Amino acid sequence: MSRAGALALKEPPENGPAETERPAARAAPSSAAPVVAARGLSLTYAAADGPVRALADVDLTVAPGEFVSFIGPSGCGKTTLLRCVADLEQPTGGELVVNGVSAEAARLRRDYGFVFQAPALYPWRTIARNVGLPLEIFGVPRAERRERVARYLDLVQLDGFAKKYPWQLSGGMQQRASIARALCFDPKLLLMDEPFGALDEIVRDHLNAQLLTLWRKTAKTILFVTHSIPEAVYLSTRVVVMSPRPGRIIDIVDCTALGRERPLEIRETPEFLRLGQRVREGLRAGHAYDA
Ligand code: ADP
Ligand code: MG
Repeated sequence: MSRAGALALKEPPENGPAETERPAARAAPSSAAPVVAARGLSLTYAAADGPVRALADVDLTVAPGEFVSFIGPSGCGKTTLLRCVADLEQPTGGELVVNGVSAEAARLRRDYGFVFQAPALYPWRTIARNVGLPLEIFGVPRAERRERVARYLDLVQLDGFAKKYPWQLSGGMQQRASIARALCFDPKLLLMDEPFGALDEIVRDHLNAQLLTLWRKTAKTILFVTHSIPEAVYLSTRVVVMSPRPGRIIDIVDCTALGRERPLEIRETPEFLRLGQRVREGLRAGHAYDA
């Protein structure tokens, strides 16, 4: 398919090209076709010592331009859920629609970028050549590659570091490079699995603020896994609170009242603290299920 528009960084908010409109995806919080629609989604791993129920009956609809965080105890299936959306795992039950098509079709047309907890940069490649690696693999011509890499390095504020090697950059900068790499096909959907989990709090604050700016600028839809309640509330339009394994959704906390412009100081406001409290209560209630 044509990705002619892929270079346009500031595409209008996704009202969805015709190809993404499918009646199967329902109950979006807004009228636009959802980016992710899961219904009754379940996944049971067939492990050597017996089945592991990782996800149970997850219903979730994510509208274009949302920032949705997932929070829950370790092992509750957050990574599994993201991997299902990315078509890296096959659900064993339920329905999943990504950008109006199957997760597989969405993967094949590179509808998402994935950012992992570890930056996973090759030490022998420069930052520019790491960021451009997916483009290289897919045979994007050199001149276009260079232009896109420069654009995304600029977006994550790493212009000037193109020729450095990963080990010459701080952990936070490396993670920004991996975000630039995930963005290089200009996917509408960004999947981020605890991307800042290994960083200290000051760096994390800084990256949170930058990520929010990036989200506002690019109108991406972001699914973001975290262990941190303040991080989830600060970044998100909605926080999905999950129970211990098998992961179920126990609450969805709407954070849109905080607005889109969020200075870090917003975290001291009563509204912010109230939302954090609600997430905390959800997590606590979830533990009660743990029989
Ligand atoms: P989280 O990201 O919330 O910490 P995961 O999605 O990684 O949780 O894992 C959910 C559960 O599924 C965990 O108990 C984990 O051990 C198990 N699990 C994950 N991947 C596999 C696998 N490939 N085979 C068997 N069990 C797995
Ligand atoms: Mg995980």
